[in-house]
Amino acid sequence: MDNPANSNACGRFAPSPTGPLHLGSLVTAMASYLDIKSDNGRLWLRIEDSDSQRSKANFIGLIKQQLIDHGIIWDTWPNPDNKKEGVIYQSERRRIYSYFMHFLISTERTFLCSCTRKSLLKQGDLTEYLKSGEIKYPQICRNRKSGNLSHEKALRFKSTDGDDFVIRRLTTGDFSYAFTVVVDDYLQGVTKIVRGDDLKFTINRNRQIQAILGFPFPKILHVPVVRDSNGKKLSKADKHSKLRGGEFIKKQIIESWTHLRENMPVSWIEKVTPTYETFFN
Ligand code: GLU
Repeated sequence: MDNPANSNACGRFAPSPTGPLHLGSLVTAMASYLDIKSDNGRLWLRIEDSDSQRSKANFIGLIKQQLIDHGIIWDTWPNPDNKKEGVIYQSERRRIYSYFMHFLISTERTFLCSCTRKSLLKQGDLTEYLKSGEIKYPQICRNRKSGNLSHEKALRFKSTDGDDFVIRRLTTGDFSYAFTVVVDDYLQGVTKIVRGDDLKFTINRNRQIQAILGFPFPKILHVPVVRDSNGKKLSKADKHSKLRGGEFIKKQIIESWTHLRENMPVSWIEKVTPTYETFFN
């Protein structure tokens, strides 16, 4: 195999520790791994624990072990201050996000918002839903001249398509996925994002922030999510979908590969098959 030092390709697997990994997460992890290793690149592991309410520290060790058990070995993020196995934790990066947030604010593309989910639901006819299931923000605070800072709930982005999404929730201080993912993919030199197709709806959000911050657009490959027999996407919160250990590992690896073979373009499968055969047989 060629020396990875000769390749600039970087990918990442970026789980949120809101539960143990399930088959759908394994499919995405495997696709990320195969894609970047077949380009002779490096794969970072990024723990997306920026949502302080839903992330649970006890799942982090479990997720790492599940990845190792299934042969997904990440590369060490070369940060000398990071003593945690070369992994990035979003919960430790608020100062970095804050720096980029202030830059966004200076471009006048953000606004303070005092709406809550409850107040938005009360908007009746104005309450529209996005494909993601989120409420489409009805632009109530977009053009407000001033506000009382202690009543503000969020900092939102003035989107070109009317989808004014959250950058930071001011009640918890948490930064949103649409924003942190852009900052981290840039700072980690990610050249190719491989993620579940349930996140397709964030492309436009990501691209707008990238354009303003002057970041390059990484390539993106979306992987069809795994659904249960009722057509429902597997969820980390559902205890029954958790990956199993021991004798089940081999079966789960084969199931993930089968899902990829059946759902990904033939040209991609042809590209990654030699890597699959080298690492997972
Ligand atoms: N943190 C997200 C999740 O666990 C994945 C984000 C990504 O791959 O960009 O669903």
